[in-house]
Amino acid sequence: MRVKIRKGDTVELISGKLEDKGKRGEVLKVMPEDHRVVVQGLNIRTKHQKQVQTQGRTINPGRMKFEAPFDLSNVMLVCPKCNVPARVHIQRDEDGVHRVCKNCKALID
Ligand SMILES: [Zn+2]
Repeated sequence: MRVKIRKGDTVELISGKLEDKGKRGEVLKVMPEDHRVVVQGLNIRTKHQKQVQTQGRTINPGRMKFEAPFDLSNVMLVCPKCNVPARVHIQRDEDGVHRVCKNCKALID
């Protein structure tokens, strides 16, 4: 399956058991091989850092929040023109490959 979501896109969480359903965020990373995506502000997890001993002192970085990857099928691209989560289709012409919003027909690229 072709991945239609790219880094820098705005996406909306449309399904899944995540508490963030309906929220939007900017795509930070796409992992097409794993079919996973990382979105700013969505699916926040807390990582517990281990204590570090350095030069006789103990540094405790504590808890660190980070965005965990989740399945690409849980998000939908938000069209920058009509501002709704939109289905896109791929259009090829002499300039290359473009994504077209099925809702407003706008070129997204
Ligand atoms: Zn649109």
